[in-house]
Amino acid sequence: MSITPPYPDLNEMAAVLGEAGRRLSDIGASEGAAGNISVFLGWPVEPRRLFPIAEPIELPVAVPELARGALLVTGSGRRLREAMQDPAANLGFVAVDEGGTTGRLFTSPRRLFDRLTSEFNSHLAIHRDQVRAAGSNFHAVVHAQPFSLTFLSHIPAYRDEAFLNRRLLRWQPEAIVNLPEGLGCVPFLVPGSDALMAATVESLRAHRITIWSKHGAVARSDQSVKRAVDRIEYAETAARYERADLTNGGQGEGLTADEIRAVARAFGIDQKIF
Ligand SMILES: [Zn+2]
Repeated sequence: MSITPPYPDLNEMAAVLGEAGRRLSDIGASEGAAGNISVFLGWPVEPRRLFPIAEPIELPVAVPELARGALLVTGSGRRLREAMQDPAANLGFVAVDEGGTTGRLFTSPRRLFDRLTSEFNSHLAIHRDQVRAAGSNFHAVVHAQPFSLTFLSHIPAYRDEAFLNRRLLRWQPEAIVNLPEGLGCVPFLVPGSDALMAATVESLRAHRITIWSKHGAVARSDQSVKRAVDRIEYAETAARYERADLTNGGQGEGLTADEIRAVARAFGIDQKIF
């Protein structure tokens, strides 16, 4: 899937990231400075009206497939809920150089951060992997820390993907429609590490959202930032049902496997979870 012209301009894209941050905050998935967002833009963008200050940077991971493209990325330590008030001050624009090992970081004079998000390596690696596979000219990655999903990942049984998905996708008929591949689950790995980056890339090949155990969730979309945020919201809502059921002694029935298979058939969903 690719975005076709006329392309959204940088002000629109920056505003979209700000709105996404606001929504993540609204659902309790972005306390303090938690969470980060980036988008890959594979069309020519002139950043200097919004981000006039340029500096060369080394990219934390080589992304030759993203060369000549650009990324809009949240700054480290910034509050996602505040990004909407002044997107330019909270975001950086990275133009990827030929070869994909270096870039130019463009920022605003009102810039409120020193570095880009500490998870920039994972963001870059996910964009690269997805763009390489699908040839898309747009890709969004969102990391947030939704309470219920993260809480469940502290319970060992929920780190098994088959168990996790059969438990979570049983609470609403739309769940299997919205998350037909279910959720992936990556074990706990140190934030910002190469190991976390590699495991996330692998998991997001088969899923559009994955859990970072004992930490949070990462979602991707080749259509819009909002779709990635929606995936986090759908998964978090499912986890809230599940957590409620755990605390009431498991009295909830949930949709049965037969009922979920009937929904999937009716909506033409190819799924392997139930
Ligand atoms: Zn985090």
